[in-house]
Order: sequence, then C-alpha cells, then structure tokens
Amino acid sequence: MKLGAIEAGGTKFVCAVSDENITIEDRTQFPTTTPEETMAQVFTYFEQHPVDAIGIGSFGPVSLNEEADNYGFITNTPKLAWKNYDFLGAMKAHFDIPFYFTTDVNVAAYGEYKAGAGRGKQNILYWTVGTGVGASYLQNGGFLQGYSHPEMGHILLRHDPRDHGFEGVCPYHGDCFEGLAAGPSIEKQFGKKGNEIDPSDEFWEIEANYIAQACVNATLILRPDIIIFGGGVMKQSQLFPQIQKEFVKQLADYVDFPEISNYIVHVELGDDAGITGALMLAKKATE
Ligand code: ADP
Ligand code: ZN
Repeated sequence: MKLGAIEAGGTKFVCAVSDENITIEDRTQFPTTTPEETMAQVFTYFEQHPVDAIGIGSFGPVSLNEEADNYGFITNTPKLAWKNYDFLGAMKAHFDIPFYFTTDVNVAAYGEYKAGAGRGKQNILYWTVGTGVGASYLQNGGFLQGYSHPEMGHILLRHDPRDHGFEGVCPYHGDCFEGLAAGPSIEKQFGKKGNEIDPSDEFWEIEANYIAQACVNATLILRPDIIIFGGGVMKQSQLFPQIQKEFVKQLADYVDFPEISNYIVHVELGDDAGITGALMLAKKATE
C-alpha cells in the first residue's frame, strides 16, 4: 500500500509518498500561488506517484463540517485566490481514493501524538507559534471538533504591562494571542525578526507571559495530558523554562497538572510533523 500526504501551507505545498509503515519514499514542494497553478502541480505529482489514500492538512480556515455544503473548502482566507476554494472536491474529481481532510495544524498535532512528544498520551494540546498561532486538541485520538475546528490562536489575553499597550497585529482582533505573540508581532515591535533578538532580551519574558496565559486558559478548559509547542518562534529554547515558571505562578495551585517539565514541551518531529501526521491520517482513511 502507498500513502500520500499534502501539507498545504500559506507559503508552500509539500507533497509526499510513503509505504504503509510511513517510511517516506519521495517528497517535493512548490510555492503556494493560485489554485490553478499550485493544484496542477499536486495533480501531476500524484499522477506520477499513485497512492491508495491521501491525507491533507490545509491552511485555513477550512470547513470540516461534513453536513455543510462547503465541507472540504478553504473558506475565509486572506489569501484571496484561495477564498472559497473546494480543495477536497478538486482532489476527489482527480483521484478516486479515500481522503482525510483537515487543517495543517491538525496534521502536525496528529504526527506529534502518534510519533512525537505526545506518544503514549491520550489528550494532547498542540500549539504552533510561527507566522500565526494555531492549535489542535486531540482527545483519545480524535480531533476536537464542534461547529467547526477550534481557533485557539485568537484567544484574548491580558496585556503584559511591559509591552506598553502594544496594539497587536491580528487583522481581526489586534491584540489577541496571535496578534501579540506570533512572528509578525515580534517584527512589528522590534523592526527585526525573532531570530535576530538576543535570547537574554527581556522581550522573551513578555512573550513567555503570553504563552503561559494561553497554557493556563487551555489547562482550565481542556485539562490536557501534555501541551506541545512547535513553530518558528518556539525555536527560542529559553522560552520553555520561562513559560513553565510563569504558568505555575499564574495557575496558582488552583488545579493539578503533570510534572511541569513534562507538561509544557517542545515538539519532537520538528518540520516533519505535518507530513508524518498527514500520512498517518491517509492510512486511517483506508481503515
Ligand atoms: P509558518 O508559521 O509560516 O508555517 P514558521 O513556523 O517557521 O512558519 O514560523 C515563521 C515565523 O517564525 C516567522 O515570523 C519567523 O520570523 C519566526 N521565526 C523563525 N525562526 C525563529 C527563531 N529562531 N526565533 C524566533 N522567531 C523565529
Ligand atoms: Zn486574532
């Protein structure tokens, strides 16, 4: 059996093929331009590399409500060429095989759950802090899904007084979690990228405060077994002890949680999480 994966990001698409043990046999990537151009490359790739099922993790928002007319669409994206694009429908029109369609964040979370930092845990919360902030919660192997998928990257937080009331950069909310803590927010405040800011800069304590608040809220709402962080900004490894310390302080012994150094942790699969998860979900689609 051959499995296929598509990690459809806002800047690039990654396509890969594996055997049934998720050993990757081929992979390629191309830039995300228009659906006409980019999807033509996807179709050609899987015509040249036939597979038995494909797992898709797409940038979004996407419609995951199977009852809705727009199930499998990319919906209200700021990338206008992709707005209301029937991603899953286009794939089904080209390939008569099973698909698993979900968000880019969900596939990465699934990879970490099965083969990364969440191995052996039942209930995992996965956050990515990069160009945006995304989140995924898996309970007993299933994605948390209500009316649609959660959007925990846009929760509202208290300002750290040291940010001097920074207005944030989220186009919808200004100073939501993503608007305060994702990469573009750091660039707006400093005029340079996060990787150019000294790890000892006080800014990282402010960043840790926001991320810790998100962990407190998520702990109170979801009570996960583990909280896993990935994404470019989280490559700043000094953040982890700062977040852990701040989290313990803010939660103030109200509820218990696993040993802190095993509770708020970095991803293990890194950049491979998304493709690995998508391949595993392709396999699930065949079962
Ligand atoms: P994306 O979210 O687009 O999939 P990433 O997770 O790599 O991609 O996130 C990119 C963002 O992370 C950019 O805003 C970039 O400036 C920031 N970033 C990347 N590496 C680092 C780093 N080492 N330290 C801090 N910020 C970083
Ligand atoms: Zn927002």
